[in-house]
Amino acid sequence: MIYQKLYPGGKAKAVTFSYDDGVEQDAVLAELFNRYGARATFNLNSGIGPDQSWDCRGVTVRRLPPEDMPGIYDGHEIACHSRTHPHLEELPVRALYEELLEDRIALGERFRCKVTGLALPYGSWNGAVMEAVEKLGFLYCRTTESTGRFSLPEDFLRWNPTCHHNDPQLMLLAESFRVCEEELPLFYVWGHSYEFAADKNWGRMEELLDFLAAQRGIWYATNHAVAAYLRAVSRLVAGEDFFYNPTNQDLWVRYEGSILKIPAGEWLDV
Ligand SMILES: [Zn+2]
Repeated sequence: MIYQKLYPGGKAKAVTFSYDDGVEQDAVLAELFNRYGARATFNLNSGIGPDQSWDCRGVTVRRLPPEDMPGIYDGHEIACHSRTHPHLEELPVRALYEELLEDRIALGERFRCKVTGLALPYGSWNGAVMEAVEKLGFLYCRTTESTGRFSLPEDFLRWNPTCHHNDPQLMLLAESFRVCEEELPLFYVWGHSYEFAADKNWGRMEELLDFLAAQRGIWYATNHAVAAYLRAVSRLVAGEDFFYNPTNQDLWVRYEGSILKIPAGEWLDV
């Protein structure tokens, strides 16, 4: 049977964002995402409070007070970025596990949600870090290596994004995405919101969101939603004249020119 997998709602493409460190400028960025209906994942260090600040190209960067966070991040995903932002690969094994585990527990309690993802601090890792990520049962782990592509990761525990928002090719990539006809293309942009303030280029994100908003058929989703859907849709069963969805979420395909929804746990004759 020839068919094409689609994203939820029968959308052909997906866009996701990932922003690190939980800083004050996240409030501006989350508001911008909200205005465009975009969804992001914010990666937080639960062990660092607003008393610590640093300078980024002349801008003082501060962490958000934890009490302000739930309102700002409402509608987006919260993921781990380790408890105190160390180079994980330099830690003794026990400290490595504690950095990840304690961050996940603290964020889960603070936001009253299940925390399933991780963005590696400094994007650095080694074999021991990956072993910990796997053993702790994270659904996905984001690196900082740009692919310049819209293809899906072979391994969600080494999830390389498409590009950083400061990539000189950002809008060229957006145009390539517009005309992309691959199956399940994903445009994945990452960065730090304080960089927009430091570089005085908030317009860059607005331009991208404007460009994407003019297109139809885009699913805006958090990292978790994307990873969970892709894991589910990979389990779709297609027979000679039927589909079977063995997962607990609805799946979508294009078959003989029609968009079909295969409800969770159901068979669909075609
Ligand atoms: Zn960071």
